[in-house]
Amino acid sequence: MSRNAESTAFRSALEVIRAVEPRVADAIGAELTDQRESLKLIASENYASPATLLAMGNWFSDKYAEGTVGRRFYAGCQNVDTVEALAAEHARELFGAAHAYVQPHSGIDANLVAFWAVLADRVESPALKKAQVRQVNDLTEADWFALRRELGNQRMLGMSLDAGGHLTHGFRPNISGKMFDQRSYGTDPATGLIDYDRVAEVAREFKPLILVGGYSAYPRKVNFRILREIADSVGATFMVDMAHFAGLVAGKVFTGDFDPVPHAHIVTTTTHKSLRGPRGGMVLCQPELADQVDRGCPMVLGGPLPHVMAAKAVALAEARRPDFADYAQRIVDNAQALAEGLLSRGAKLVTGGTDNHLVLIDVSGYGLTGRQAEQALLDSGIVTNRNSVPQDPNGAWYTSGIRIGTPALTTRGLGTAEMDQTAELMHTVLTQTTAGANADGTPSKAKYTLDPALADKIARQATDLLAPFPLYPTVDLT
Ligand code: PLP
Repeated sequence: MSRNAESTAFRSALEVIRAVEPRVADAIGAELTDQRESLKLIASENYASPATLLAMGNWFSDKYAEGTVGRRFYAGCQNVDTVEALAAEHARELFGAAHAYVQPHSGIDANLVAFWAVLADRVESPALKKAQVRQVNDLTEADWFALRRELGNQRMLGMSLDAGGHLTHGFRPNISGKMFDQRSYGTDPATGLIDYDRVAEVAREFKPLILVGGYSAYPRKVNFRILREIADSVGATFMVDMAHFAGLVAGKVFTGDFDPVPHAHIVTTTTHKSLRGPRGGMVLCQPELADQVDRGCPMVLGGPLPHVMAAKAVALAEARRPDFADYAQRIVDNAQALAEGLLSRGAKLVTGGTDNHLVLIDVSGYGLTGRQAEQALLDSGIVTNRNSVPQDPNGAWYTSGIRIGTPALTTRGLGTAEMDQTAELMHTVLTQTTAGANADGTPSKAKYTLDPALADKIARQATDLLAPFPLYPTVDLT
């Protein structure tokens, strides 16, 4: 694809939008400028390819397509069938999965689909069988009431939030915590690593219906073979949420015991993080769960988004190319270089390093809360997000950690030398920031001081660091 074709496509699109609502066209253009200028270290973000972005902006958005490929509740879905089947085929091939469901609109939706598939398979189906009926509408009022109670009385075991788990793994503020009785497993306070013996112990005591593996902020590999053995030993369904590290699985950086797909009964993911696709979700599963998974819409999902499924097909095709494996390896090389750069300058890292795409800095070592550090870095043109660390004394709002990740900067082409420079910029900001005080003299968890001239200087250095690696080099909007 030539530079001209991509530039022409985006320029023409903006021209068409500008004719209707110029402020939207301006905001789209401004977003590109902002993304080009910021040193993006948000571990869950990336930059999708122009082909992926363009696949989303079209008339597929106009189509209703409830149902699955070849079995729709609306007429005229033949082209949606084409893209949904392609996306599912690419997903199956890429991950070696028996079944792929590509309709979920996001990672949270994918998890809900998975939870309800397991509940339907393990709780609802046996109840229907016992009552000798085919479907829920055929149950008596009394049997239906009993089934609803049973569905709402199941157990889930997942990784604790402060060890890096995700809110959707059974925590109270999320629907999963209201649906399931939840227990969590943490990490060893001495090493910061998952203690598999402890997971097995909690599983034995708690006997969950679902054991969840996967995380948002754990900087290490997870041994999915061991977790599957634990799940089997207590009769639990093993689910893995690989939203964060799907790109590393796709790129064959995580293989064997560290690839969740052969070990889990069901795997969920987002498509927009390290996988570098459009904003969306996906479920992969063993054949026995396929029918239930395919009922995701309308069980918990609104109508499928055919334009996003088209973009998923494009992005998954890209991830099947050999250069994606190289990209995935560079993500990890960069994360390790960033960790090394920070450690060598005196930073405190949770687990002392990383073997995936993310690094968790314990900023209490700099005398700061996560919130103060996040804001001071942002003032200096470095975009990160604050995150709890294990046993965090500052809670989930202020936190004591900064989570950083390398998928986005690696897409731009930055390498290990630039990661060391990034570590230097971050370390300078964090050492030069001081925690502030409240009006009554008590320490503030939000206020801080950082010399604005220094923040400006770092921001200029961050821009200089990015300059040789233009974002969307084939897209010229001028
Ligand atoms: N699961 C994990 C492990 C995540 O980290 C996230 C998002 O950060 C999600 C699910 C939710 O993804 P989404 O924002 O697409 O719903």
